[in-house]
Amino acid sequence: MAKRSQLAIAMLARLGVPRLLDTFWGKNRLTVLAYHRITDATAPDFLYYRPNVSASPQMFARQMAWIAKRFNVISLPVLHAFLTKGRPLPSRPLLITFDDGYLDNYQNAFPVLKRLQLPAVIFLMTSRMEHPAPPWWDECALYLNLTEHQQAELPLIGMCDLSTPEARRAVTDRLLRALKQVPEAEKQAAIRAVRERLDVPEPTADPPLFVNWEQVREMVAADIACMPHTVNHPILTRVDAEQAYYELAESRAQIEAQTDQQATAFAYPNGTPSDYNAAIIQMLRDLGFQSAYTLTPAPMSLRALRRYPLQIRRAFLLYKDSFDLFKLKVMGLPSLVARPRYYKEN
Ligand SMILES: [Zn+2]
Repeated sequence: MAKRSQLAIAMLARLGVPRLLDTFWGKNRLTVLAYHRITDATAPDFLYYRPNVSASPQMFARQMAWIAKRFNVISLPVLHAFLTKGRPLPSRPLLITFDDGYLDNYQNAFPVLKRLQLPAVIFLMTSRMEHPAPPWWDECALYLNLTEHQQAELPLIGMCDLSTPEARRAVTDRLLRALKQVPEAEKQAAIRAVRERLDVPEPTADPPLFVNWEQVREMVAADIACMPHTVNHPILTRVDAEQAYYELAESRAQIEAQTDQQATAFAYPNGTPSDYNAAIIQMLRDLGFQSAYTLTPAPMSLRALRRYPLQIRRAFLLYKDSFDLFKLKVMGLPSLVARPRYYKEN
């Protein structure tokens, strides 16, 4: 991040803006945090997709200690009782969530949550429980980090400079942005072509990158709900309706078969408003889902929450965030500039 914006963030934090935002939002809101990976993204041997890392283990512990003092961290059943039975929420409710189900959640986040007795939710990409290999975004980052080529002509984005680590990261970002725009089948073909152009081997599932069912059951028993995030993580608006339905129904069925919980919460892959739509929301409703989560900035008023339980907003956290920026995000500064856009829910 640029020096100037870092300074501005520190200044906002020092001027008491987080407290001001807190007063502005008052008590009638729900804050949901969206984490992905908890690991050190800047370690020299970290070759995966950096923007999918939300915090280092040290930063995560610091963030959780701060949250535990300022919010009432609620469990998913408490939120669902509010949504379906009108039961009250505590004041200053906050829900902690993680997407994808990386093994580092179990290794680095779970011990902190247990120590502080904080409930949470992990949204699992269920195909990875059996085959814990890198998903497509990590695959692309791996290929671009491992290749010996100093430049290459890549599908969708053309000629690319690969001469420095920074250049490779910039190409990864560009490639992923382009891949997210195309239909799923075209995306898969393009990724195969990238691997061939860069002359790198296909990654394996050893060592595992994701949690297994045994670890899932251990976490569920300790108040960490594990919920569906599709089987294969396609963007649901880039596949046909039949495939989208399969991704929702099958990931839910697998989790219910493997754990002793009702799997009625869901997180949309990618989570921006163009990554789901009214038809997907209707499918979730038909399948009996009680809540679903986007990446539109949090918090959400309790009024909007009752109206749009299948489009719950979350604060998206990134490993690059300073502690000051973390506080501003949690207190809802980005949500003031993001226009809320909801699809109609019945
Ligand atoms: Zn995801």
